[in-house]
This record gives sequence, C-alpha cells and structure tokens, in this order.
Amino acid sequence: MKRPLLNYHKNPLGILALAVIGIAPIIQTQAQENTKPTMETTAISELNNILLSEWTGPYGGVPAFDKMDLSLLQPAIEKGMEMHLKEIDKIANNPAPGTFENTIVEMEKAGKPLDRAFTYYGLWSSNISSPEFREIQQELSPKISEYSSKISQNKKLFERIKAVYDNSVKSPLEDDQQRVVQLIYENFAMEGANLDEKSKKRYAEINKDLSKLYTKFSNNILHDEENYVTYLEKDELDGLPDSFIKSAAKAAADRGKEGKYAITNTRSSMAPFLTYSDERKIREKVWNNYYSRGDNDDEYDNNKLITQILKLRNERVKLMGYNNYAEWRLQNRMAKNPENAINLMNAVWPAALARVEQEVADMQAIAETQDLDVTIKPWDYRYYAEKVRKDKYDLDSDEVKQYLQLDNLTQALFFTAGELFNFNFTPVEEGKVSVFHEDVKVWEVTDKTTGEHIGLWYLDPYARPGKRSGAWATTYRSYTTFNGKETVLSSNNSNFVKPAPGEPALISWDDATTFFHEFGHALHFLSSNVKYPTLNGGVRDYTEFQSQLLERWLSTDKVINQFLLHHETGEPIPATLVQKIKNASTFNQGFETTEFLASALMDMKYHTIDPENINPKTFEKKALKELNMPKEIVMRHRSPQFGHVFSGEGYATGYYGYLWADVLTADAAEAFAESPGGFYDKETAAKLVKYLFAPRNSMDPAEAYRLFRGRDANIDGLMRDRGFPVPAKANEKHEDKEEALQEENEKMKEDKGEEK
Ligand SMILES: [Zn+2]
Repeated sequence: MKRPLLNYHKNPLGILALAVIGIAPIIQTQAQENTKPTMETTAISELNNILLSEWTGPYGGVPAFDKMDLSLLQPAIEKGMEMHLKEIDKIANNPAPGTFENTIVEMEKAGKPLDRAFTYYGLWSSNISSPEFREIQQELSPKISEYSSKISQNKKLFERIKAVYDNSVKSPLEDDQQRVVQLIYENFAMEGANLDEKSKKRYAEINKDLSKLYTKFSNNILHDEENYVTYLEKDELDGLPDSFIKSAAKAAADRGKEGKYAITNTRSSMAPFLTYSDERKIREKVWNNYYSRGDNDDEYDNNKLITQILKLRNERVKLMGYNNYAEWRLQNRMAKNPENAINLMNAVWPAALARVEQEVADMQAIAETQDLDVTIKPWDYRYYAEKVRKDKYDLDSDEVKQYLQLDNLTQALFFTAGELFNFNFTPVEEGKVSVFHEDVKVWEVTDKTTGEHIGLWYLDPYARPGKRSGAWATTYRSYTTFNGKETVLSSNNSNFVKPAPGEPALISWDDATTFFHEFGHALHFLSSNVKYPTLNGGVRDYTEFQSQLLERWLSTDKVINQFLLHHETGEPIPATLVQKIKNASTFNQGFETTEFLASALMDMKYHTIDPENINPKTFEKKALKELNMPKEIVMRHRSPQFGHVFSGEGYATGYYGYLWADVLTADAAEAFAESPGGFYDKETAAKLVKYLFAPRNSMDPAEAYRLFRGRDANIDGLMRDRGFPVPAKANEKHEDKEEALQEENEKMKEDKGEEK
C-alpha cells in the first residue's frame, strides 16, 4: 500500500487521459534506438537538439545525461510534439483502408523523439528540479494538454482504429496484437471518441470545467493547510520527541514566530503531534484543524465543489451511456466493476470494526491507569495507541538500523533477483554510461545462465536539493520487439541520507522495505517480454502488487543471514528482533484499515449515486452512520479534503486499489510460503515471472493470476497479515483487468513519503 508506480507509458491514449485531467505528464518512455527512419533523423539533425536525438553509445544507446541543457527542453518538447502530430496525421490520412500494420503498428512506432525528450523532462521534474524548470513546466503544461487532445479528438484516426478493432472482432488477430488493438480502441472510446459532434463538444466543455474545479479544490486544501497553524509555547511540549520539537521550532521561525513551536496543518506534522503530545486540549485543536480542511464554511469550503464535480462527471459518462462514473472508470481495471470492489471492502470491513473495539478497549485500560475520566476521542486514538504499542511491541528502531546497511541491502536485491528471475547484476565501469549526478551508479543486468544482455539498472540513492521526496522507480526505455529488439533502461530513486565518507549508510526497516518495493517495480520493467509498447502499460489496481510482493523477501532467512548484518560486528540481525518487527506489523490495523476503508467506501458511494441534489456534508454523515463507523475514528480523508478523488481523476473510484493490490500480495506470498522451497521455490518463482511479471499488460491480470495460483485470489492471506480472523467462507473474489498511464499528480500521491 503506498507509493509509486511509474511506468509512464506514452501512447497517444495515455496522453489523452492526461489531457482530460489537464496536468502536465511526466512521461518516461520507451525510446527507439536502432532503426530510425531516415526522414525523422533528418528532421532531428536539422533541429540539432540533443534531447530529441537518438541515444548512442553502448547497450543499444543510453540517454545523454551528461549533455542535458535546460535551455533545450522547451524547444525539444515542442518540436517533439509537432513531429509526433505530423506522424499521427500521416497515419490518419493514409488513403489505404485501416489495418493493424498501417494504423496500430505505425502508432506504436510514432513519437519516439518526443519520448526521448520526455525522459529528460521526467528527470528534471523528479531528480534535478529547479525554479527555472518549474517555469518551463508551467508553460508547457497547457501545450501538452492541447497536443494530447489533438490526438484523442482526431476523428479520422479513430475511424481507422475502430475499423481495425471491428475487423479484429470478426476475425481475431494474434493474441498480443488483439490485445493492443483492444486496449487502444477502448481507451479512445472511454474518452468519448465514439460520440457525435454535439456530444463531443459538451464532453470537452465538461473536461475544461472539471480541470478548473480540480485545481480550485486542491488550492482550497492548500489554503487551509497553510493558514491553520497551531503555535505552542515552551511549556506545551510535554511528550514530544526532540527531533519533532526541533523541526517545530524551525517551522515557527520560518513563519516569523521565533521562540515558538509550529504544528502545521499537514499529516506529517499532525500525526506525530497527536501520537506524542500529552496536551489533550491542544491535540483536540490540532485534530479539528486538520480534519476541517476545506470544510470551514468560508470561501475555501470544498463542499459545493464536490457536488459540481460529481454532477459533471456523471453528465460526462451519461453521454457515453454509462449508469455512473464508477462503472465507466472500472471497466478496464482489474476489479472490472464497482460491485467487485465494494464486495471486497465489505468483506474486510466487519473485521476492521471488531479490531477497533479491541484496540479501544486496550487503550481505555491504559488510559484508566492514568486518568479515570478519559473516554477515547478521535484526538486520543494515536496517543493511546502509542502507549499500547510501547507496552506490547516495544521495538527500538535504532537497534534495527544497525543491521540495515544500504550497500548490503543492494546486494540483497541482486541476490533476490538472481534467485527468482535468474538475473545477474554487474557494475558498469564508471564513465561508460553517462549519469546526471555523481551519486548515480549503473549496473548491467544479464541472464545468469545464458549471459544475454537484459538491460541496465540506474540507482540514484541519496537526497539532495532539487530532488523530490519519497522513492520511485521508472524506465528510460522499455522492452519491445515489434520494431527491432529494445532492451530495458530502468531506474530506482530514493532519498537516503548520504553518509559521511567511509561511513555506512544505515537505513530504517521501513526504508529497507521501500527499497525492495521499488526494486520490485524495476524487476517488473526488466522482466517484460512484450512485443508492443502499449502492452508495457500499468493497471492501476494491479501494478502495485508486484512491487508489494517483492517486499516480502526482505525478511526471508536467506536475506537475513547473508545481508542483514550488524555494521560493526557483522552478526546477522537476531531472530527475536525480526520476530518483534513482524509482530508489530499487525499493530493498530483496526485503526488503519478502518480509516482507509471509510474513505474508499465513500469514494465508491459518491460515484455510484445520483449526484443531483447531493450535499456532501449531510451525505458523509449519513453514509458513515449506515456503515457503523466507530466514533473514535474519522475517515483518513474526509470528503472536503479528499484530493485523491476530487483534485483530479487519478484515484476517483480508485482509492480501493490499495486494498485490492494488498489482497493479491498476501495471497501470492502465501503461494510461496506453502511451496516446498518456500520463498525460493524454483517452480513457484518460474510461474511468478512467467505469468505475473513478464507479460505486463499483454494478458488480462485476472487470468494471469489464475494461471499463477490455480485459482482467484482470496482475502484469507490479507486477513492473516492484518491479524484479523479469517471468515469461515471468505472467498471474496478478485477478478480482472487493466489500465495504463499516469500524470504527475497521481505519481506524487502514490509515492512513498506521500500520503496514502
Ligand atoms: Zn510502488
């Protein structure tokens, strides 16, 4: 549950979805090295812009990171878009009838220079940002939007796609070709390509209105985050950790209140404050500020915007004949329809509520030893939960860190990849491949048995100014074979604190888990065996599953005994300490599951009802009451601050996806645990690679999972993971499909370090 995704697959449709949202994409892409049409090469050399140029050098060509120049970026993107649109026009205006070869294959080939420019764009945006870059980004954003619309609204192009699709329904193509056609056709159709001119016009107006409402919604939240700061005096700091006090003092000084302590109105400030502060009255105030964001009955109140957004979304999908927004959105997700997602959530919900009751009882018992009058309120939950944690699961995170050396963990990743994927990682000698910062290291990935070159893996491990927070994975180039073989350039990016020279980089258990997680994305890229670029796309409720699963190898015996070694003594981490970490993982799951599910269920409710006269204020209250929401807990994101859902469309009816991926993760992990060879079982690993990693989106995810597991995933494993009782016949099924594409906003939210 958490973090990134980041295979930005650039196909026209992907970009088209961006146009709808109206936010500039970061698009990491597959670029084309070997077989360049002469015409295109001429065009590029005329422009003489290195950011558009073919990649040269070893390994099928690599990005010219050493020659990046920000002044070239805007002309490169603009020229790249122009070139791509020309190619699209050529495809659309081909006098010959539309065929797979002259339409789909040509679309898959098109836009390569732009892909390359976007690779650099993504790097500036994430790894080496600057105020100058952000200015360029703002200027480019509407232009990119416009460019996407030109493709998505190209009537002639869609007619050809439709012709190919209709023919393929009558006489099917090869499996992977059929799937490409289907994905491309469905994406266009989902964005209204089938509508008549009048409806298309209305469709575009709705999108324009929505994009303004989304921006306003998120700016209102920002306003309330910036303007409700709680300042503490020196005698109001009881219980707070030193590090927190230090940063609160700095936050106050930054706001001109030297000598005071600022609790800002963000999760990263609110959550630790509520966890540690002994000042109950102030806890209540901080809690109220945070959970009232966008809900203060003023000009920044978001409730009216929610109604407007829901009505416009509903009108838009009605144009295309859908009953509601959720039905439209989920058709190409693994869940396929709202019912499947709701059934899953309903299956977990009662156990979460039951656990909350136990948690509250545990807390009440502790509270009563201190103050007989306390009844646990929402602003007490984190505070007393922390006391229970200390009592039951005392875990010294500093002690754990001593066993987690970054270099060893990197070797642990390679070991795991070797065991499961038969991959070998060899350092690329310095200077052979250009990098954008001296800290970035590169490894070559080969097949352990045949020695065949598979790709490169770039690691940018340390925090620095201009690099965004969190951790993420991306590709500079993805695997394809349809136009000559392209190998993978994958990268992992983290924000570890760079150690002093000669010192080991020691990281926390959470960070080590994230390191494995992101590497899971990289392995998903590296193991791809798809022929066409479109098939590399991700599926929102599926693509976090592979990475989450890989996290499980961190605590396997082989990794522990070889790599989790004390940085001074060289001793492996003691089994008792590992057991403590595992025990602590079920801690507070009642709270976490309930606050999450309340938001996820509400997301689905909003998008399955008739929004005509909806008042979010009363609707939220009533819906929570019907759910028997515990009075001690509030939604993780209350409606007026639910940016995932209302400041864009990335997670609208998609918030459940975190849970969906968790179900798959837990169930697949149990497949390993039950195998004769455990987590290193060769047969299970082979199936894992064959069905769940290598096909990417060339296979229906539900079908792929069935081939791996011999059945659909069920929720039993997830319930065990969270320490919930497994229902006697809990067979909530998981089925189905895909989706690609991202926009920057979504990406940020998915990242580790960003909020779930
Ligand atoms: Zn991820």
